[in-house]
Amino acid sequence: MVVVGAGMAGVQTAVALREQGFTGRITLIGAEPHQPYDRPPLSKAVLLGTAEGSAFDVDFEALDIELILGRAVTGLRPADRELDTEAGPVPYDTLVIATGAEPVTLPGVEAVPGVHLLRTLDDAARLRPVLAARHDIVVVGAGWIGAEFATAARAAGCAVTVVEAADRPLAGSLPAEVTAPMAGWYAEHGVELITGARVTGVEPGTVVVDAGTGAPRRLPADAVVVGIGARPATRWLAGSGIATDPGGAITADESLRTSLPDVHAVGDCASFPSARYGRRLLVHHWDNALQGPRTVAANVIAAGAGEPPVSYDPVPYFWSEQFGRFAQYAGDHADADTILWRGGPGEAAWTVLWLRDGALVALLAVDRPRDLAQGRKLILSGARLDARRAADPAVPLKAA
Ligand code: FAD
Repeated sequence: MVVVGAGMAGVQTAVALREQGFTGRITLIGAEPHQPYDRPPLSKAVLLGTAEGSAFDVDFEALDIELILGRAVTGLRPADRELDTEAGPVPYDTLVIATGAEPVTLPGVEAVPGVHLLRTLDDAARLRPVLAARHDIVVVGAGWIGAEFATAARAAGCAVTVVEAADRPLAGSLPAEVTAPMAGWYAEHGVELITGARVTGVEPGTVVVDAGTGAPRRLPADAVVVGIGARPATRWLAGSGIATDPGGAITADESLRTSLPDVHAVGDCASFPSARYGRRLLVHHWDNALQGPRTVAANVIAAGAGEPPVSYDPVPYFWSEQFGRFAQYAGDHADADTILWRGGPGEAAWTVLWLRDGALVALLAVDRPRDLAQGRKLILSGARLDARRAADPAVPLKAA
């Protein structure tokens, strides 16, 4: 049993295999040299220096998991059931791919000094002194990572400007009606948000931005942090014959098996068809890297016992800590769903519900964790809501 990628999904797969009684040999191979660690704290406590690291509390030795760190897997030859690594081939009987995602870079500026990404512990370690020095920082991208980084940088006393190509933050995730109040959080925390703008150049100490109105703006920047998305880390699979989509995600089936025999894929690197939502989901969030591995482990064991596989059809969940708020999202919404507000967008705490044919399919709760907990259960059960009652934030969320 070989697991490639020693992030959340890879570690959880190895642990779940042992928890579910797998007694065979398990080898976990990771490219990074560090003890496997959790990523969410990298844009929060680790960045601010209030936590030293975020290593997983897992005793690999006690679980009899062989951990090979600092070794990138460079290829997969399914006909030989072998992986290629920097230190030679590694054979497998069953393989789990959990290589996660890698940040999208801003073309042409990767090598400019002072330009940073935020994906790894090393990235966070490079950014900590930048924050401590209270530099002027330009963040490119007003997505989840950009907002969290801006929050931390402001907390550290930096001057922060966020440049976003779309006309609003989180344009790829949420509708304009929902992001409207969120855009105000930037100014409230002293962050300038420039939307509809493109970075046209990065020079030492300056970022040049074209907002389409008049002359380009030159923003002072001791450091630039690029947070414009991530793509599945699957380039190493080129030539293996594994099925991927145009964006690079491994297209797993409903049991998280890939197109290759005895090869599974889980976490940020793989999409899967959701019967619940009627479409293929690619989830780049922590909870998916926790839940998916349990299904993979169960299916590895089931395959060994000649039993049928179980399906993976979660209600996706994630959270974000930004601008002093705790935002939590569960489910999956579509443009055609009906939006229902619980609490006004101008209030300190509010929840947005998405209804499809009267049933709750998704919600975003801002500082209303009880709504999230209750709503998640209602989504799971496919419950219909009474819209009038559901819109009243004083009434607990429950089925009609
Ligand atoms: P990864 O964590 O990316 O792990 C994959 C591992 O595989 C990496 O260590 C990588 O080095 C290794 N690898 C890649 N290629 C190879 C190779 N060829 N050979 C060997 N090893 C390889 N989600 C939330 O829900 N809430 C949050 O608040 C939140 N905050 C986040 C903050 C940051 C800064 C980041 C980066 C992510 C955050 N996320 C959050 C997302 C969450 O951390 C990811 O969804 C989760 O880490 C995915 O786990 P994974 O194991 O699939 O991938």
